[in-house]
Amino acid sequence: MRGIACPEHDDREMVDLLFFPTGGGKTEAYLGLAAFTMVLRRLRNAGIHSAGVTVLMRYTLRLLTLDQLGRAAALVCALEKERASNPKLGEWPFEIGLWVGSAATPNIMGFKGYKGAGAQVTARKKTIDFKSDDKKPAPIPIVECPWCGTKFTRDSFFLMADGKGNPDFPKDLVVKCVNPDCEYSGDKQLPVLGVDEPIYRRLPAFLIVRFASMGRENGSTLRARRALRSGRILRTSRFKGR
Ligand SMILES: [Zn+2]
Repeated sequence: MRGIACPEHDDREMVDLLFFPTGGGKTEAYLGLAAFTMVLRRLRNAGIHSAGVTVLMRYTLRLLTLDQLGRAAALVCALEKERASNPKLGEWPFEIGLWVGSAATPNIMGFKGYKGAGAQVTARKKTIDFKSDDKKPAPIPIVECPWCGTKFTRDSFFLMADGKGNPDFPKDLVVKCVNPDCEYSGDKQLPVLGVDEPIYRRLPAFLIVRFASMGRENGSTLRARRALRSGRILRTSRFKGR
């Protein structure tokens, strides 16, 4: 934590590997540090300037489990609930992006009549297919609300553009909980981005990135590294894209 808080700290020079038995709290320690980092960045830079990708969580395909996604998403839900009632944490929502490849999450939103690359797996098509037959795969790889645990249904997903329902030309796949008592139901959407296009536009604070194998960077991770390094420019574009 000292290394996170202080850019000059000696810990910045160190990369360490954490060995611990299953159930020992590795993920909790990691998520705790992630939360500390995200909140500190908001507190230190008021306003939109502290928005942008803050934490990259990298996973191999084998280790990317629903449980891991759900726990990280629950943390972001908690941060966002806190931010919504605390102006010190900034005006831009805390969000989690699932940037885990087209097999798990759609790369593009798609639109009515779209016949280009990936036309069968656009977010629009996957959402419409799931809404008409919920035995088909859901458009994102999380099956239940990360905040209250209610299972997602065909009524949990909305194709939207500029805050309105727009199934023909959507810009966002909005996810809401169907439990009316949940924090993230009704007017309030879950802070979860499951499609690449909105991820590039909104630059979520917490980004889960899948990589193919240890020691090999894939293109998306390299792009993400660049995005982090040039945070100032990206935050500006994010602001415009809002
Ligand atoms: Zn819920």
